[in-house]
Formats: sequence, structure tokens, C-alpha cells
Amino acid sequence: MTEIKIEEKVMDKFERPLISLRISITNRCNVKCFYCHHDGIVPRNYEMTSNEMQRIVKVAKEIGIEKIRLSGGEPLIRDDIVDIVTKISSVGFRDISLTTNGVLLGKYAEQLYNAGLTRVNVSFDTLNPETYKRITKRDYMELAKNGVERAVKAGLNPVKVNMVVMKGINDSEIWDMFQFCKDTGAILQLIELLKTENCQESEFFDEYHFDMGELEDELSKISNRVKTRRFMQDRKKYFVNGGEIEIVRPMDNTEFCKNCTRLRITPDGKIKPCLLRNDNLVDLIEPMRRGFSDEELKKVFLKAIENREPYFTDKC
Ligand code: SAM
Repeated sequence: MTEIKIEEKVMDKFERPLISLRISITNRCNVKCFYCHHDGIVPRNYEMTSNEMQRIVKVAKEIGIEKIRLSGGEPLIRDDIVDIVTKISSVGFRDISLTTNGVLLGKYAEQLYNAGLTRVNVSFDTLNPETYKRITKRDYMELAKNGVERAVKAGLNPVKVNMVVMKGINDSEIWDMFQFCKDTGAILQLIELLKTENCQESEFFDEYHFDMGELEDELSKISNRVKTRRFMQDRKKYFVNGGEIEIVRPMDNTEFCKNCTRLRITPDGKIKPCLLRNDNLVDLIEPMRRGFSDEELKKVFLKAIENREPYFTDKC
């Protein structure tokens, strides 16, 4: 395995170091979750190649990036996903993770683990095939469930199941999901529904939004231990009867911005310095395709970082 040598650490002007890089490797997807925001589709031939991604993470490592997360769209619909992970892993990172809907995870879990993937988050909202179909418009519940099981068996650790809890749809399944995760060896993360472009209208949001408040009160009472994750927006992790539950609340707060150490890359190769903004993207792939050297690409990264500022501040 490649020796992991952390390079020079770059800070933005708010003294936030850049530690993790989230690469959206496609925005194509194989399910159609009704609550999901769909960014404009990038045609397949504009997506970055595995070699381009390898070069990007190599330069990113030189400015101090230590962790890589692959996302999408659905990252596992890239035919070359194992090659992508192999190439990124060869650069040497302490953590390479992936966010997936799990449908193709049964097919790839072992190969991805062998290629150097360390952990995985599986978006999986229900164990009921009808509810699954209602949410995703697809009949893939068993495949996704199998994906979670195969990921644990393959040795990926941790395997987290992300369940978006929705009132009247799957809120009655929280404890079944907890049991499934506990039996499988996965960790359940309950995600609070966010307002997105598709559910902007408050009608949609009011109908399905499930407030985690009451559940958190219940969990506080029945947990053997509660851990607060300080640099993760004070996210709470509850240890209940030999299993774990984490709660992910919306992140529109100053703490989230203060502790943000993440850069993003869009599927068409642009650096996105802030999750909540689209007006300050910096193109990386175009200069790379024009023949920029690694040193010049590093300057492109630094330019993107120079303009980073917290979206939410105490003044907001
Ligand atoms: N295809 C991959 C997957 O399914 O994990 C990666 C992309 S998906 C958009 C990333 C995550 O965003 C999933 O966990 C999904 O459940 C979550 N998500 C999408 N829309 C959401 C919303 N309105 N509220 C909360 N979470 C949402």
C-alpha cells in the first residue's frame, strides 16, 4: 500500500483547513426519489475520466486534502467505478468513502473494498417494497438491502444506512430499520427531510417533514450512551441496545460553516468551494485538458480557496 504522506496544509482566510474533497463523479442516477433535487444532467461524455480524477486528487493531496468521498448522482452507475477507486487509492488517502443508493452495491462491494474503498453510506429509506417503489419509482428494494449486507460482509467499515424519515411514508419503520442495521452490522443515520427545488412548496414539505425532536427526546431516555460529534454540527450518536443511531438535522447554521473543511468537485470538473452556492465555481478540468502542469492546477485550487467564505455567519 502507498505510504500516506500529508502535504502542506492550506487554510482559507477564515482559518479553516481544507481536509476533505467530495467528488460528484456523475449526476446520472438509476432511481428517481421524489424528494431529491436534480442538478442539470451532465452528458456522459462531459464526465471526468478516472485518470483525470486521479490527477485531481493528487494535486488536492498536495494542498492537504486527506479524505475523499465519491458521490453523485449514483456513483455506481459508472462502469469504471472500480478503476476510479483503484486510481484514487493509489495516490494514498487515509479515508476513501462513497455514497450510494446501494442498488449495485451487491455487485461491487468486494471489488471496491479490494480497490481501497474504506467505508460506504447507503441511502436506503425503507424495508417495505411498496414504500420503496413509491419513493424511488423503482422495484429495487431487495437489491439495495442486499447491497447493505454485502458491503458489511466485504469489510467496508463503517457501513451507514441513510434513511430520510418522512411523515406518513416511512416514519413507522424507524425501529425496523434499526433492527435491520443492528442485525447486519450497519449504523442507522436518520436524515431530516430538507427543502429542495422539488419540494420547495411548503405544501410538500409540511406534508412529509418529520420533526426529529420527539424522537431525540425518546432516544436520550432509552440510550445507554450519547455522543455529541462536535465538528459535525453537534450531531448526536445514540447507543441503544447494542446498536447505534445517528441523527442528521438540517445544516443551515453558522456552526456548520465555521467547521466546514470540505471542497467539492462537480461532475463536469469544477471546484465548488461552498455547498450552498453555485456562483463561485472554478473550472479545473478545462485547464487540465489544455495541458496545465500540476503546479498550475494547484494554483487553480488555491484560487478557489481564496474566495471561500462562510455562507452563514453570526451576522446573518
Ligand atoms: N445516489 C447517491 C445516494 O443515493 O446516496 C448519492 C446522491 S444522493 C442525492 C445523496 C443523499 O442525499 C442521499 O442520502 C439522499 O437520501 C439525500 N437527499 C436527497 N434529497 C434529500 C432531501 N430532500 N432531504 C434530505 N436528504 C436528501
